[in-house]
Amino acid sequence: MAHRIFNFNAGPSTLPLDVLKIIQEELLDYRGTGMSVMEISHRSPEFDEINESAITLVRELMGLDDKYHVMFCTGGASTQFAMIPFNFAGNGQKGAYVDTGTWSTKAIKEANIMGGAHLAGSSKDNEYRHIPKAADLDVPANSPYLHITTNNTIKGTQWHYTPEYDGIPLIADMSSDILSHQLDYSKFAMVYAGTQKNLGPAGACLVVMHDDLLQKRKDGNPAMWDYRTYATKKSLYNTPPSLTIYIVKLILEWIKNQGGLAAVEKVNKAKYDKVYGMIDQYPDFFKGTVQTDSRSWMNATMRLPNEDLEKKLIADAKAAGFGGLKGHRSVGGIRISMYNAMTLEGVEKVLGFMDEFRKANS
Ligand SMILES: *Cc1c(COP(=O)(O)O)cnc(C)c1O
Repeated sequence: MAHRIFNFNAGPSTLPLDVLKIIQEELLDYRGTGMSVMEISHRSPEFDEINESAITLVRELMGLDDKYHVMFCTGGASTQFAMIPFNFAGNGQKGAYVDTGTWSTKAIKEANIMGGAHLAGSSKDNEYRHIPKAADLDVPANSPYLHITTNNTIKGTQWHYTPEYDGIPLIADMSSDILSHQLDYSKFAMVYAGTQKNLGPAGACLVVMHDDLLQKRKDGNPAMWDYRTYATKKSLYNTPPSLTIYIVKLILEWIKNQGGLAAVEKVNKAKYDKVYGMIDQYPDFFKGTVQTDSRSWMNATMRLPNEDLEKKLIADAKAAGFGGLKGHRSVGGIRISMYNAMTLEGVEKVLGFMDEFRKANS
């Protein structure tokens, strides 16, 4: 048995052991082809089955019909920051954006290059410690879309409501909380997520888009910058990141086999309760950095009483078999990332370690 640590990395992140074992089993000879998935043609029936299954499973798990296109784009979520305004804004039309820190700030920066962004709301004044309330948003009626970042991986906040504006397509960067809980995905015209947090390894960005929005894209775009290319060719216009799509398919099956989003949500809620339970019990030692009503189910961020203790905790944790607890370099502190593949056992064990650390150091 290989030595495996409890991996709390924020992305790329831990993958389910059962899925890694399937990959290992199928690696040298994928279903009698005598080749690995990395080596087969993306035009082969074997890959076609993988791609079709992935598309079908995304719709099924999200509860969406085939009015929604499922695409695998490359360039990560970051390329979507530019592709969205490139396809849907410009000519004086500005997408509306809510700035909830780091990633949404980057999305706004890219939109500004592509023709402008309207700031519909922000929690910058509060160092991004909360998600703005619906009443505080200012979304112009003629906005071509509203863009939000449902989970703020670095700041540790998450939207716990879905903003709705009649006739304005809602677009969400769900890179770090896609398929982590039950949600009415039909309220979104488009969701996208880099695969390396909740969906598999790095290499693709899942894009799910309603056909009504797709029809609004501008004509005359280069092929790889036009969503229609991905939608009509099922992401097979050029060579797709086939290994990543294969592993995403395995993750989607893993989610389905557990009982879908209801089952995943149950585990994630249990992890959330335990982590924030510790923060609430010892707020002078584990100082949560965000407002209670905006806490993320996926990335819990905290500071310790001083930076030396933070460094010591990270080093001691590593020695004890817990990796990835360091907060993002831009904010410091401690971050417990607990995506779908992180087990409740892993969370309980790291909290046990952290409690011992608190006792020994306070
Ligand atoms: C990680 C992350 C990104 C960046 O994803 P890339 O695939 O590296 O471009 C964007 N948005 C959010 C919310 C993220 O967590």
